[in-house]
Amino acid sequence: MSAQATIVTEEIGHSPLGASSADRWLNCPRSIGLAKELGLTGDAAGPAAEQGTAAHEILERVMQPDSGLEPMDFFGQFVEVGENKYEVDADMVEALNIACNHVWTEMGKVKAEGEAIVFIEESMKHSDHDLMYGTVDVGLVSLLTGRQKVKIKILDYKHGAGVVVEPTSPQIKYYATLIGNRLMNDFVIESFDDIEEVTLTIMQPRIPHADGVIREFTMTGPELWAWYIDECVPGMERTKDPNAILQIGKWCGFCPVAKAKQCPAIGAAIVEVMTAIPPEAQDGETLGRNIEKIKFIAKMLEGYQEAAFKKALAGEKVWGHKLVDQIGNRVWGSSAEAAAIETFGDEAYEKKLKSPAQMEKVEGGKKFVAQHAFKPQKGLTLAPSSDKRKEQKPLMDRLMEQENIDL
Ligand code: SF4
Repeated sequence: MSAQATIVTEEIGHSPLGASSADRWLNCPRSIGLAKELGLTGDAAGPAAEQGTAAHEILERVMQPDSGLEPMDFFGQFVEVGENKYEVDADMVEALNIACNHVWTEMGKVKAEGEAIVFIEESMKHSDHDLMYGTVDVGLVSLLTGRQKVKIKILDYKHGAGVVVEPTSPQIKYYATLIGNRLMNDFVIESFDDIEEVTLTIMQPRIPHADGVIREFTMTGPELWAWYIDECVPGMERTKDPNAILQIGKWCGFCPVAKAKQCPAIGAAIVEVMTAIPPEAQDGETLGRNIEKIKFIAKMLEGYQEAAFKKALAGEKVWGHKLVDQIGNRVWGSSAEAAAIETFGDEAYEKKLKSPAQMEKVEGGKKFVAQHAFKPQKGLTLAPSSDKRKEQKPLMDRLMEQENIDL
């Protein structure tokens, strides 16, 4: 293929009750019926989602058995998604390398253990639910010899750099359920009790994360079945109820109703926040809920700014705004280094100790960092309940506890 070649992606239908929107329809079941009544289909796909589709296209091609390909082989090519084209640039190649290397390692381990079934970008549909279908990035099934038991690994690639996805999320459990159902229908297993272990892996190389860019969560087959029966199926049923709840949350970001600016819950939230009593007079529950609403309203502003910027770039006047140069930090010109050495000698350079993160990359650096680095206390801050950090008590409570111990 030449460097200018364009890869065209195939249009694959998205289920309204698909895995990628599971977080939304489980939390805001009315969003499905409302979108249908308004004639809105699919998720609110934007350029980021389309770039993700382009990256998945390359992942699929590289991962085909005996393809002999690496992400680098597609460098400089373009992938056509809908009406747009996305370049396979260095950033995409680097992210895909991380994911592909991990998949190859896991695939090697599974195959070394014995008989295995490998699914790559496999479209699957649940036999009991017409709308429960989707494409599994990578599914690895180890057949445990002589025991009629299996172990399943699901590896899900996320190209997005905006929203962190955790391996505990409903969307990856959804894919695991599809594989379990497929194995039952293929008579590989009799029930989810025969699944000894399910390892759910998110590979999200473009967002730094305290737990690493590749994160795993392990559960048993019966635990996966309990999620499917107790959460997923009732959640799907709720979406059929015209009186189901509309609930604002982080899942609104990809909702077609939000994109069409037709969500009554968001309209009500804007009015509620604008007419609320001052924050100082609100109780903790109201404050917390209002912060969530304001975050979402602020996110809508990003959409406005983006649209206004595009119009301005296209030459249209946007009231109260103008195009200006971005402010950048000063950088050295090509002649600076030689001139600085001539002028300042050794004074031109600054020698600094590497940061703990840089030092960890040096041989023996991890041990050194564990011994000599620490996280300085910087005081308390307020974070969402989903934040990974341990919950702390206010200073006053800690002092009181200390006082009681001392007494
Ligand atoms: S925008 Fe949010 S609250 Fe409104 S329908 Fe969509 S998910 Fe529900």
